Amino acid sequence: MTIDSRMNPTEADAQFDTLAVRAGIARSQFNEHSEALYLTSSFVFGSAAQAAARFSGQEPGNVYARFSNPTVTAMQERLAALEGAESCVATASGMSAILALVMSTLQAGDHVVASMGLFGATQQLFGNILSKFGIETSFVPATDPEAWRNAVKPRTRLFFVETPSNPLMEVIDIAAVADIAHAAGVLLAVDNCFCTPVLQRPLELGADVVVHSATKYLDGQGRVLGGAVAGRKEILDEVFKFLRTAGPSISPFNAWVILKGLETLRIRMEAQSASALELAQWLERQPGVERVYYPGLASHPQHELAMRQQRAGGAIVSFDVAGGREAAWKVIDATRMISITANLGDTKTTITHPASTTHGRISAEARAAAGIGEGLLRVAVGLEAVSDIREDLARGLLS
Ligand SMILES: *Cc1c(COP(=O)(O)O)cnc(C)c1O
Repeated sequence: MTIDSRMNPTEADAQFDTLAVRAGIARSQFNEHSEALYLTSSFVFGSAAQAAARFSGQEPGNVYARFSNPTVTAMQERLAALEGAESCVATASGMSAILALVMSTLQAGDHVVASMGLFGATQQLFGNILSKFGIETSFVPATDPEAWRNAVKPRTRLFFVETPSNPLMEVIDIAAVADIAHAAGVLLAVDNCFCTPVLQRPLELGADVVVHSATKYLDGQGRVLGGAVAGRKEILDEVFKFLRTAGPSISPFNAWVILKGLETLRIRMEAQSASALELAQWLERQPGVERVYYPGLASHPQHELAMRQQRAGGAIVSFDVAGGREAAWKVIDATRMISITANLGDTKTTITHPASTTHGRISAEARAAAGIGEGLLRVAVGLEAVSDIREDLARGLLS
């Protein structure tokens, strides 16, 4: 892993904050201070022999930007350092990171066990697309470790976990699920999008691989799409081979934006989490609010686990308002500042009504069974003053 070239090897285990701004730096001959953006699709060779050596992999170096570019390499090395991973491969989006992981670790006939509260597109990928290619997925109520054990079949190869879940913020015990996975010879993948390595380090808890939608907090400012897979080298070598051939590659520009986003990730996550906790505590006291879902609250069913597994509750707060869809829409429509969008992981606070947007395509019965009610709202807390966020929500709650 490239650390700033002036740091000596004993500093390679530098603190998180130092790695966030300096890991992956490889300066060009111009000695630029900020990391360079290499907008080039291909690279030239000094000779025919060098071209052959680069193509075969005998000589390290860049060939073609579908599978290597110095800006992308810098982003990969920095994220690997923050996740404590041996290796990392960046992809065009979070969904292509999950696709690359699946295509490089599974084959027809294999079986996946996944948590029920997955991001909508991930659910569609496992449930509707991979099933066409002979890969079957069982969705389990993930907070119960026994459900994972009971779902294992002879051809189970992958456990896929998202914690905390969307939108109900259920917390899954990564260490417990990792033990079950490894006893059965199964790989455990964790989508670490909601927490980022600032709040949760799945590999230290026993996960084999981490996937990211870098589109969310890693960029953190709503500018670009990106994704990544990080973990042990032998797994990532296979992910790289898939990327090299199939090409869901990240733009160097997007990688550069995300690389710079990582520099402020810790202070953003901590500030947004602190605001989310304050907002969740305030929401619990509002008469129109029936229930608040936030792992940082003592009232959360897995609060103790969350505080053991995560450094803070994260920046997403969901809550049920009394009065169903009509009351929930009223809260949204009364806002003047908060962005009405299903996106999350931005410095700007966003609000969404899951039952009619992100979870609108699943049947009313399935939604009810999953606990996603008509009065449920999800707020992804940004960097604005908490008092302004509170005031914006209060308008629709009190009127
Ligand atoms: C957004 C998201 C994804 C997909 O990422 P894209 O970058 O939009 O492809 C995957 N998992 C979670 C938890 C997400 O929030």
